[in-house]
Amino acid sequence: MAKRDYYEILGVERGADEKEIKKAYRRLAMKYHPDRNSDDPEAEDKFKEATEAYEVLADEEKREAYDRFGHAGVDPQMGGGAGGFSGGGFGDVFGDMFGDIFSGGGSRGSRGGAQRGSDLRYQLDLDLEDAVKGSSVKIKVPTLEECHHCNATGSEDGKVETCTTCNGMGQVRMQQGFFAIQQTCPTCHGAGKSIRNPCKKCHGEGRIQNTKTLEVKIPAGVDTGDRIRLSGEGEAGRMGGPTGDLYVQVNVRPHPIFERDGANLYCEVPVSFVDATLGGELEVPTLQGRVKLKIPAETQTGKLFRLRGKGVKPVRGGAQGDLLCRVVLETPVNLSEAQKDILRQFHEDTRADKHSPKKSSWFDGVKKFFEDMKP
Ligand SMILES: [Zn+2]
Ligand SMILES: [Zn+2]
Repeated sequence: MAKRDYYEILGVERGADEKEIKKAYRRLAMKYHPDRNSDDPEAEDKFKEATEAYEVLADEEKREAYDRFGHAGVDPQMGGGAGGFSGGGFGDVFGDMFGDIFSGGGSRGSRGGAQRGSDLRYQLDLDLEDAVKGSSVKIKVPTLEECHHCNATGSEDGKVETCTTCNGMGQVRMQQGFFAIQQTCPTCHGAGKSIRNPCKKCHGEGRIQNTKTLEVKIPAGVDTGDRIRLSGEGEAGRMGGPTGDLYVQVNVRPHPIFERDGANLYCEVPVSFVDATLGGELEVPTLQGRVKLKIPAETQTGKLFRLRGKGVKPVRGGAQGDLLCRVVLETPVNLSEAQKDILRQFHEDTRADKHSPKKSSWFDGVKKFFEDMKP
């Protein structure tokens, strides 16, 4: 199938500058990212297509080659073996797009026929307390690890021969028209080596399926959507290639009391109508323990009280947020007849409008509304 033009894929002009290209790619990547389109092969294809286009157009050298020779000038199949997500500018776009918190020394790229292991993704469900205070969590990750039986060589007897077609390069040079191109070796598929007697445990792969336990340090202040990158904790590479990375995707479970919005926390505080009327002192929960909250007389339902500094300190820095307590008036239940009589008496005494400012202005509004409707 013929490849689409890279500029067309990203929807930019041929003269587009670096910024425009980056912006266009971000837009497409956000839309088609596999994390957001699970089990949608079309979206995945679109994502790969856009990524490939971006990797080329964001790289000055590759872009120049593409502009001169078209796809043949930059095809990863023919180039220096830079397959997958290994392009120069990819990391930084990805980083600020998905908010990686850590990005340690990458182990990208490939050497010889070796192939970098895949990145892994792990969804970590955290309680709000742990996300706010930070913690250390043990996780079990199914992954491909180096095969110890063959020392990751893939060979039962340890003998690995150099591929004779490509002399171990993994690539073969071909003259096409007026310029030479490199192509993945058809004999060894880029490995550069051949194994006569494949390892019985890993079937020549050099790696086996395993489950490993990792301890993940959760920095204080993480939130749903944050990712923690553990460099080199992904799948082992093939033929001694570098290991992929592990991305721990944070998901904070809903909390029975607090709701988080950025640096701030919200909670509802039920208040009896007597306390709300006369004013009083309430005990409210914070993540640091209980604190006293004074509410003034004549407090209405829905009123927010701010407890400064009782929110979250965001993981990327910035000031500690606040805790906002929303007052919710509670209607008394299970009243005795005697208590109900007191309320009836109270009701008779407070019929006048001056005791219910909201109610009287509401009735005024309704009255005006009906009057305005008259022809
Ligand atoms: Zn093996
Ligand atoms: Zn070969």
